Amino acid sequence: MIGGGLAGLSSAVALADAGFRVRLLERRPFLGGRAASYDLPGGEHVDNCQHVTLGCCTNLDDFYRRVGAGHKIAYHDRLLFVDSAGRRAVLQASPLPPPFHLAPAFALYPFLTWAERRAIGQALMTIVRGHGKDTDGDGAGASMLDWLRRHGQTRASMDRFWKVVLVSALNEDLARVDARYGLDVFWKAFLSNRAGYRLGLPRTPLGELYDGCGAAIERRGGEVVLRAPVRGLRVSEGRVVAVEMDTGRDETADIYVLAVPHDAVLNLLPAPVAQQESAFANLRRLRVSPITGVHLWFDRDVMSEPFLTALDTSTQWIFNKSCLYGQPGGRYLQLVISASYELMPWSRQEIIDLCRAELRALLPATREAQLVKATVVKEAAATFSPEPGSDRWRPSQRTSLPNLYLAGDWTKTGWPATMEGAVRGGYLAAEAILSASGAPRQVVRPDLPAEGLSRWLARCGRRPVPRC
Ligand SMILES: Cc1cc2nc3c(=O)[nH]c(=O)nc-3n(C[C@H](O)[C@H](O)[C@H](O)COP(=O)(O)OP(=O)(O)OC[C@H]3O[C@@H](n4cnc5c(N)ncnc54)[C@H](O)[C@@H]3O)c2cc1C
Repeated sequence: MIGGGLAGLSSAVALADAGFRVRLLERRPFLGGRAASYDLPGGEHVDNCQHVTLGCCTNLDDFYRRVGAGHKIAYHDRLLFVDSAGRRAVLQASPLPPPFHLAPAFALYPFLTWAERRAIGQALMTIVRGHGKDTDGDGAGASMLDWLRRHGQTRASMDRFWKVVLVSALNEDLARVDARYGLDVFWKAFLSNRAGYRLGLPRTPLGELYDGCGAAIERRGGEVVLRAPVRGLRVSEGRVVAVEMDTGRDETADIYVLAVPHDAVLNLLPAPVAQQESAFANLRRLRVSPITGVHLWFDRDVMSEPFLTALDTSTQWIFNKSCLYGQPGGRYLQLVISASYELMPWSRQEIIDLCRAELRALLPATREAQLVKATVVKEAAATFSPEPGSDRWRPSQRTSLPNLYLAGDWTKTGWPATMEGAVRGGYLAAEAILSASGAPRQVVRPDLPAEGLSRWLARCGRRPVPRC
C-alpha cells in the first residue's frame, strides 16, 4: 500500500481484517495525508485544516469504528448560521418525517424573503422526487448554477442558502460544480434521512484518529512504515514487479495499491504506462481547487458556540477548537475558506487582517481581544474540482495491470473529494482485490436508507408519471 492517507489506511485495514499481510509505505512522518495534524515550529499541534464529516458518511464512520476512533467524533444536530449584520439562525431537525424534518427551522431562516424560501422549497422537492438525480435536465453535465437558474433561484437564495452548503461540501463555486454532485449532497445530507445532516467533528487532533491503524495492520503480520517515500513502480511484461524506494532499495509484493494523490500517480508510473493507458493519462484532466485554513489564538475567550457558519463573508466557517477539544472557553479558533481562489496570491498578513475584520462583525467579542498568534495554511490542491463532466476522468480501482490497484478520493467512487470519498475509494480497492483473490466480500457500507415520506416521494418521482 503506497500512501497513508484515508484511502490507503482504510484499504489496508479492510484487507488486514480479511486476512492479508499489508505493508503500508508513507512518505511523511505521520499518517492521515490531507486529513492529518502536525506540530508547528512554535510547538502547537494543529490540524492541516478543520475536517468535518456528516451523518450520511457511512463508510468513514465504519472506518473510524474499525480502528477504535468512533468515540473521538462528536455529532452536532444544531447548526448555527450568522450573517455580517450579526443576525443568527438555527437549523435543527423537528419531529416531522423526512424530507420535512428541517422545514420548520428553514421556515424561520431570516436571511431570505418568503418568496425565496418558497422557491427553495420547490427546488428541494424536485430533488426529492428525483432521488437526488437531475431528472429534468438534458443529462449533459449541467452545472449546479445552470440547475438553480432553471429552478427559479434568485441571486440572494444562491448566496445565502445554496452556496453556503455546497461551496464547503464540494470545495468549488456553483458555476464549476456538476449538478449531479450538488443534488446528491442535498438528497443524502438534508432530504433522504433524518440523521444525514448531523455534523461530526473530531474531539481530538486529526492524527489521533489513526492511532488504531498500526495495530489493525500489524495483527495480521503487516507493517506501517513512515518516512518511506516511493520513487516509482517497476513494470515488466504487463505487471508491477517492484516498488523503487527513495533509498534505492526495492520492495516487492504480490499486489500493489497506489493510494497517493492523483497528480502523484503519474510521477510514479513508468512514462509509457502513464501516457498510453487512458485511465492514467486522463488524470491530467482533473483540475484542483484550493482551501485556506486560518488558525487564530486570542488572549481571552471570544466564542462560546462550538462552530458557526458565516454568510456574506469570505470566512465560511468558524470552529471553536478550544470547545471542540473539551477545553474551557473559546480562545483558539479555526476559520475555513473553501474554493479560496482569490486568496491564493494574498500574503499571510493580508489574510489574517481580512479574517479579523470579518470576525469583528460575526463575533463581537473579538473586537477588544488581542491576537496572540496566527497561522495560515493555504492548500492550493486541496481537492479535485467536481466540474461538470469530471466523473469521466476518474478511473476505476482496477487497472489494466492485473496486480496494480488504485485508491483515493479521486477514483470512481460516486462521491466528491471528501474523507468519505477517500474511504469509499479504499474500500472499493479492497473489494476488487478480494474478488480477484477468489474471496469476494462486500466492504463498502450502504448509504443511509431513505426514510419517512422521502422513501415514498422518491419512489413516485422515479415512475414515468409526471405527477403523483
Ligand atoms: C484543507 C483541506 C480541508 C478539507 N476539509 C475536508 C472536510 O472538512 N471534510 C471532508 O470530508 N474532506 C475534507 N477534505 C478532503 C479530504 O482531506 C480528502 O478528500 C482525503 O483526506 C483524501 O484522502 P486520500 O487518502 O485520497 O489522499 P491523501 O490524503 O492525499 O493521501 C495520500 C497519501 O500518499 C502519501 N504519498 C504521496 N506520495 C507518496 C510517495 N511517493 N510515497 C509514499 N507516500 C506518498 C501522502 O503523503 C499522503 O499521506 C479537505 C482537504 C483539505 C486539503
